[in-house]
Amino acid sequence: MASERGWTDPTERSLPLAALPRYSPRMNAFAELVFDRPLDHAFSYSVPLELQPQVAVGKRVRCQFGRGEKASIGYVVAAHNTAPEREVKPIDAVLDDEALVDDQLLALTRWMADYYLCGWGQVLHAVVPAGVRGTAGTRNASFVQLLPREQQPTVLPGVTPRQKQLLDALKDRTEPVEMAVLAKEVGCTTAVINALVLKGLIGKFHDRIEKLPATLQAIEDAVEVPHLTEAIPMNADQQAAYAPIRAAIAEGGFRPFLLHGVTGSGKTEIYLQAIQEVIRRGREAIVLVPEISLTPQTIERFRGRCGRVAVLHSNLTEAERASYWRHAATGRVQVVVGARSAVFAPTRNLGLIVIDEEHETSFKQETTPRYHARDVALQRAKLAGVPIILGSATPGLESWHAAHTGASTLLQLPLRVAGRPMPAVQLIDMRHEPRSPGQPRAVGSTLERHMRSALAAKGQAILLLNRRGFSTHIHCPTCGYVSQCLHCDLSLTFHRDRAALVCHYCGWETLPLTQCPKCEGTAIRYQGLGTEKLQAELERLFPQYVVQRMDSDTMTKSGSHQRVLEAFRAGSIHILLGTQMIAKGLDFPNVTLVGVVNADVGLNLPDFRAAERTFQLLAQVAGRAGRGDKPGLVMVQTHTPDHPCIGFAAKHDYTAFADLELAFRREHQYPPYQKMARLIVRSEQQDAAYAFATQLAGSFKTATARSQLAVRVLGPAECPVFKLQDYYRFHFQLQAVESATLHRVLREVLSVSKPTSAVEYQVDVDPYSMM
Ligand code: ADP
Ligand code: ZN
Repeated sequence: MASERGWTDPTERSLPLAALPRYSPRMNAFAELVFDRPLDHAFSYSVPLELQPQVAVGKRVRCQFGRGEKASIGYVVAAHNTAPEREVKPIDAVLDDEALVDDQLLALTRWMADYYLCGWGQVLHAVVPAGVRGTAGTRNASFVQLLPREQQPTVLPGVTPRQKQLLDALKDRTEPVEMAVLAKEVGCTTAVINALVLKGLIGKFHDRIEKLPATLQAIEDAVEVPHLTEAIPMNADQQAAYAPIRAAIAEGGFRPFLLHGVTGSGKTEIYLQAIQEVIRRGREAIVLVPEISLTPQTIERFRGRCGRVAVLHSNLTEAERASYWRHAATGRVQVVVGARSAVFAPTRNLGLIVIDEEHETSFKQETTPRYHARDVALQRAKLAGVPIILGSATPGLESWHAAHTGASTLLQLPLRVAGRPMPAVQLIDMRHEPRSPGQPRAVGSTLERHMRSALAAKGQAILLLNRRGFSTHIHCPTCGYVSQCLHCDLSLTFHRDRAALVCHYCGWETLPLTQCPKCEGTAIRYQGLGTEKLQAELERLFPQYVVQRMDSDTMTKSGSHQRVLEAFRAGSIHILLGTQMIAKGLDFPNVTLVGVVNADVGLNLPDFRAAERTFQLLAQVAGRAGRGDKPGLVMVQTHTPDHPCIGFAAKHDYTAFADLELAFRREHQYPPYQKMARLIVRSEQQDAAYAFATQLAGSFKTATARSQLAVRVLGPAECPVFKLQDYYRFHFQLQAVESATLHRVLREVLSVSKPTSAVEYQVDVDPYSMM
């Protein structure tokens, strides 16, 4: 291969595609850089003269950072001509032709760094897909172009009829054309083109061009026949909810809406019409949905109505991700639908953000930057000055509270569309269920009876059990030994499929026990119920029906999730059982029975959101029943039927639940009444972790007392999961009414607190995991 841009031999004549850098009267002699490290400020560098035309905000540069000799990569966040006071190092190279992020994304990432207390460079590094930073999604291609007469030989060589045809095809083109494309167009081989290059009549050069992902290519091809489906005429409730959204789109400006509509009330229809309105106005929309809802069904619904839709899901290749990013950045995509990270889609003309199932905890990222996509989306909408719709049947209490304190506008859809009733929910008190002889059963006799009649009437059933594996509690009744992970403070789960005991936190595995390692007794008990055991029981109880399990163990291969859902839709699966994966967003008209095997799982976790999560899960799974013409029934097995969150879920009464739960939160000063930050300190040495956690919490107590800030410091204490992956963990919480107060004290203390090398700490602002 010849070098990319430079004359080589006659067949490799180079015509640079990109024009020379445009003349700029104000070159940038200095740049401010941030790095992918936990640092809270930018660093000044000088820009050598020859690099000044290329340096721009949003590009990456190579330079030396710190004492090390090794080159680092920095992001330019400002470029200017004001010399810093002390001498600064020069940058060595500019790595990008185009800025990777525009001003809006730059401002957004900066806000994230401030709010979530991490490095700006760390945020940028996390936000820009790896493929965009590299060259993924592009390929080398050869281009040809007719040379101007003065560059051709003075005496024109003779050409064959084929070659003549090619020259004619090139004559009226002002842009270079890819060789392969030209050959196809004219119907010749590339050898014919190369012959003309050799004769000096046309120039050939190489460049990197973008590869279209197959899905987007399909859209390109279908542009002529968009197959757009008609909007559904909205009912009165939908119209009433849509009117203010439409007005906000017309007016422009930041306007947050909370769309609270029961499952099947037609929320998605409102999103679609709002998006169409935005597209009509020449703008773009971002739609965030939980990863699990990115089904072909959902995607089709958006594609069918909105035209050029890019879908960002987690199992895209780097090249595909990079390609979508570039397409969004150049305005070729009108709607970006995706999970959490789609909030960073680089659309340049954003007109609306929609977040469906806004209460979903999967919108919170649990690694640095520990952001919540809903809060980032709100911030982005603010920066862009556009409306944002948060939609849910069971809004997060933060959003509900915001809608009741005037921070957002509440819109409600209290009824399902087309007069469909909400499914009847029946609580089954497991304390009074007749016990079957022998092994305790997962499916009680009441649930079993209803399943039989639903299946006999050609309906389908969904069964929820939010726990994976076969047995969840392996112990020795003689000495009380409980089988635990070697690296974590957690009991192991028996997975029969893998014939192993598995830690659900760190993935550590060991062989199943037949003998107690402590007392050498051989009466090891395998108790506790997981989805594998439930599946075995269902296959035994209903041998004439097809049973399928859906949890993260069975859904490991990409596409398996979709395949199961398609089979279920087609009716070739009768009973679908699984973890929360099956509870969300699915719309199967033939499901007439939904069973919750154990509603109490998760209710007693040491987490102030335990009740909220249980309510949401029950309400969501109940919403899967009766979505078609046949009415649905939901049966909930529980040992605590009097628990309010189970009772209100059974009555589909979100408002009553929210009132009660908010009263509890207010009383205990939990979010949304106070802002919270959680600090986690960990070390392989328990004493070191404890010492630093105590010291750090002490510094916070001193700082708040000194500046008389109203910040509560709760802890330190051992984390509920004390040992995790060989690290001992302590945590404490900071709480304050104002987020600004919390941030002030966090910045003040953390800037001077440096742990010893054996200890690490993390800050989690607005934490969603308390374990
Ligand atoms: P949600 O998002 O609230 O769960 P959807 O928007 O998915 O509800 O609507 C549920 C079903 O009802 C979908 O099949 C949708 O096409 C249909 N639908 C929505 N609005 C109407 C309407 N006004 N009249 C009839 N059917 C509707
Ligand atoms: Zn473990």
